[in-house]
Amino acid sequence: MKEKRIYLASPTMHGEEQEFIKEAFDTNWVAPLGPNVDCFEKELAAYVGIPHAAALSAGTAAIHLAVKLLDIKEGDIVFCPSLTFSATCNPIVYEKAVPVFIDSEPDTWNMSPEALRRAFEKYERPKAVICVHLYGTPAKLDEITAICRERRVPLIEDAAESLGASYRGKYTGTFGEYGIFSFNGNKIITTSGGGMLVSEKEDGIVKARFLATQARDPARHYQHSQIGYNYRMSNVIAGIGRGQLQHLKEHIALKKAIYETYAEAFADIPAIRMNPLNPDGEANYWLSCMTIDPQAKTTPDQVMDALAEHNIESRPIWKPMHLQPVFAECDFFSHRGSSSESVSEDIFRRGVCLPSDIKNTREDTEKIIRIVRSLFV
Ligand SMILES: *Cc1c(COP(=O)(O)O)cnc(C)c1O
Repeated sequence: MKEKRIYLASPTMHGEEQEFIKEAFDTNWVAPLGPNVDCFEKELAAYVGIPHAAALSAGTAAIHLAVKLLDIKEGDIVFCPSLTFSATCNPIVYEKAVPVFIDSEPDTWNMSPEALRRAFEKYERPKAVICVHLYGTPAKLDEITAICRERRVPLIEDAAESLGASYRGKYTGTFGEYGIFSFNGNKIITTSGGGMLVSEKEDGIVKARFLATQARDPARHYQHSQIGYNYRMSNVIAGIGRGQLQHLKEHIALKKAIYETYAEAFADIPAIRMNPLNPDGEANYWLSCMTIDPQAKTTPDQVMDALAEHNIESRPIWKPMHLQPVFAECDFFSHRGSSSESVSEDIFRRGVCLPSDIKNTREDTEKIIRIVRSLFV
């Protein structure tokens, strides 16, 4: 008999989601937009403490609109972390701009301020910097925002993985000119698919809503003076988001408990280290990851294979963008300078994302720990 499937991170619904959906059906607000969309925008903005938000069809759409709003065009340079999901940098290319990849630093796995400074020595006027808070751990935002301010370059914060994580008491996603969140199926809260663009700037968010609804000029007939997109979130989907948002704190607490259980269980194995936290912030613990000492007898592939044999889902760390065939031509700035292996490549080669589903039981987690430990001790 096949063992029970244990997931990396699958949706966790609570019931309130269906009430908001039911309301949408009962009032026939099934068509795009409607009260759930307006409320979800307001509720999420209030949660993270920012005045304006636009609910969109995906986090990727939110990044694309941030790129458009910052007038990033053909040939413009945009600095972007290498260790991330491709959705962070694809929208740069949608606009025919050029991503330049920045390595990670080992303390948080996020964009290295040192490598970022070096990139500014070669490219003095990039159009924007995009930073990411990988696996829910906040980046070194003091350093990154100081560099951006000094260079007068806007920051886009890809907080797709870090909703609810904070840095010095302020939520990630609210530090840049624009911040984005994702509600994709495996994120800390989900709407099945969706995203949010947030900003201090009302005009930017108003413009984002305009671009996201096909850029229709205010006229009775269909009049367009710009290229638009169909990027809005539907009122049904927004209902799921409203229900989920009520449980975000609880999801974070459960994710944190998973992380701490792993950290404690592997503490006596020197070859295993958990993904780093940022002492200046609070992670949302979206995914628990481990890295393995290269001298150890066990490889990440062996860990993933051993878990898969028991029907347990795990994943590699994101493969750095500067190693992707599609971005082979792009420039890259390493944390340690050009001579040695990059930090991002090192993390990729040694890392594994462990099951971090908040529906996993104590027994599930103990089983995972038992399997992993057996490979090391
Ligand atoms: C999930 C994710 C996105 C994309 O969000 P979608 O809602 O799936 O479009 C962007 N950046 C990062 C870092 C992500 O993890």
